[in-house]
Formats: sequence, structure tokens, C-alpha cells
Amino acid sequence: TRCSAFCRLRSRNYATALGPHALVLLEHRDGAIESGSLSAVTAAQQLGGQITGLIVGGPEQVQAVVQRAKNLSGLTMLLHSSSPQYANQVPEVVSPLIERLLVNGSSFTHVVSAHSSSAKSLLPRIAAKLDLPAVSDVTSLEHDSSSNSTTFTRPIYAGNAIATVRAPSSIPLKFFTVRSTAFSAAPSGGAEEAEDKAVEPVEVADLPSQHIRSDYTKSDRPDLGVASRVVSGGRALKNAETFKSTLEPLADVLGAAIGASRAAVDAGYADNSLQVGQTGKVVAPELYMALGISGAIQHLAGMKDSKLIVAVNKDPDAPIFQVADVGLVADLYEAVPELVQKLKQ
Ligand code: FAD
Repeated sequence: TRCSAFCRLRSRNYATALGPHALVLLEHRDGAIESGSLSAVTAAQQLGGQITGLIVGGPEQVQAVVQRAKNLSGLTMLLHSSSPQYANQVPEVVSPLIERLLVNGSSFTHVVSAHSSSAKSLLPRIAAKLDLPAVSDVTSLEHDSSSNSTTFTRPIYAGNAIATVRAPSSIPLKFFTVRSTAFSAAPSGGAEEAEDKAVEPVEVADLPSQHIRSDYTKSDRPDLGVASRVVSGGRALKNAETFKSTLEPLADVLGAAIGASRAAVDAGYADNSLQVGQTGKVVAPELYMALGISGAIQHLAGMKDSKLIVAVNKDPDAPIFQVADVGLVADLYEAVPELVQKLKQ
């Protein structure tokens, strides 16, 4: 959406001379702050200034999460806004509230969020409405207070190149989303509780889009995005039954999350939410096991920063071996059950 001339003018009038002040969007689910948002707080801390958290949601959701957020290390202030219309975080509904917070004489210099599906939709929308750019999927940053410029790095071409992008002082409000695997999660238990303040919701009449329903995959396993061990399967797993019966015993014995290549997801072996890679999740666990996965660059883009990569593939020339720390040329249907047995011992 292009901005009106009025809004463009407004957008240039709120730069501050008081040093960096980040507004960090704290996404939450079931009363807990999403781990990606905790990484966004850590990234915001690297700006070296004040940090205000923002929680938006339905009345009960916000109540449950405010107390936890106040204890987050690094937060100086916590804003929260609740309304039944915020219960499902529809970007068109939430963005007017954030726009109002940013333009009404605020001292914010940066707007930060996780690189989550919802924030990927929300942040660029607000930035565009204010006629400002946004930088996405940031993996490191440095703020120079003397020139009021922020320099970011972000992976491009499926992680094969790193772009360095500078937001100069002429951009009064710098929007960016953060790759959660590149920043540790901000811990709870800061020295002082952040002061919290309720913000009036901005009611949106004539909703441009409506939320119908949310479907979440329920699993007792660790969440793929934050698990310290991941066992992933590829096309070689043949079908949904063998995917499950081969990978689950190994994941159980390791206490690992299960992941999949896009080929495995497209063939219906695994749920879409398990896809690792350029168009799936980016993970960086302590241990990543790639079983029957060739190692296409789009898959590597989602797992190559894992601390220890173990690959099992029957093709010695499979590209996965170029990034693997431990490679086993074997038939996974023999190697995996043997491994499970040894681990159980
Ligand atoms: P294959 O490439 O078919 O590899 C199967 C491997 O299993 C082979 O190496 C084979 O030697 C091995 N194998 C077979 N049988 C056995 C056995 N019994 N024991 C041991 N090894 C065996 N892919 C992703 O994964 N994630 C993404 O996010 C993603 N995004 C993409 C985005 C774009 C725009 C495009 C164009 C592609 C994307 N892809 C993505 C697809 C990617 O290019 C590959 O096609 C895909 O990763 C291949 O999956 P695979 O390794 O499971 O299958």
C-alpha cells in the first residue's frame, strides 16, 4: 500500500536524537512468548538503547502473557493492547494500532520482530504504509549511534551469499525481522521488571479480511524450530508409513524433533510444518541427522548452521556429505534400526 502525502510527511517527523529505542513485537501462543520473539529481543539489545516490548492479543491471551514478558531481560517498557478483534493477529487489523504507536510523537527508532509467518506479513505492511523500507531475515546487526545508521547482514540466494545492508539516518524508523537461529533467546529474570502500560486498541470497522480458523499440528515431540536435536527424512523414506516407522524410533531415543525435505513433504510422507529449508523452517540444532536426503542447496539453506550434521545416504557422491561432519554411506533401512538398537544399549 503506498502512503498518502500526508502520511509521508508525518513519517519523517518522528526521528529522535535520544539514541536507539526499539519497539519489539512479542508474539505469543498459549500464554507463552514465541521463542523467535525472544531472539528478536536479543537482537534489539545489540542496538544498545532502550527496548519496549509490545503484546497484542485477545483480552485473556494478553493477561496471561504480560506477567511473563515483564520479567524479560533487556526490556525497559512493556506496552500491551487487548481486544477480541486481536485474538487472531490478522495483519490488517493489528497494523493500525502499531502505526498509531509509531507516529504519535513516539521516540522509537527501530521496529523489530521475529521472521515469523505472521510478522513477515505485518511488518512490511506497516513500513510500506509509512513509506519506509524494511529489512528481513537479519542474521547480525550493528548500530552506529554517531551517524544513526544500522548495518545488517542477511542471507540471500538460499544462504549462498550474505548481503550487507545499511539503513542510514535518513530512514527515521528502521524495520527489521530477525532470523531466530542467529540470536540466542533473551532469558527471563531481568534485574528489574519492565513497567507495563495498556494501550487503547484501534477498532477496525469493515474488516478487509477475516480469520476463519487456525489448524495447529499437535505433537508431543520438541518443536522443530527450537529442538536441540532433529532427525530429518527425505524422499528415500518411500511413503508416510515408512517415514513414521523408520524415523520415530530414532527420534524417540534421541528426544529429537522430526523434520523432512521438501520432496518428502510434497510426496505426502510428512506434514508441511516439518519441512526444513529455504521454503520451510530454518533450524540450527546441536545435532541434525539427514536420512536419505540428497542435500540440495534449498535444503542446506535450512540446516547448514547446525552444530553437528550427520548424514546417512547410499550414494557416496550425495552433496549432503559436503556439509556433513559425520557421513555414513549406507542403506538407511539397515543403518537406522542398528543405530536405534545401539543407542538403546
Ligand atoms: P532426493 O534429492 O531425491 O534425494 C533422495 C536421496 O536419498 C538421494 O541422495 C539418494 O541417494 C538417497 N537414498 C535413496 N534411497 C536410500 C536408502 N535406502 N538409504 C539411504 N539413502 C537413500 N527442498 C527442501 O528440502 N526444503 C526446501 O525448503 C526447499 N525449497 C525449495 C525451493 C525452491 C524454489 C526449489 C526450486 C526447490 C526447493 N526444494 C526444497 C527442493 C530441493 O531442490 C530438492 O528437490 C529436495 O530437497 C530433494 O529432497 P530429497 O533430498 O529428499 O530427495
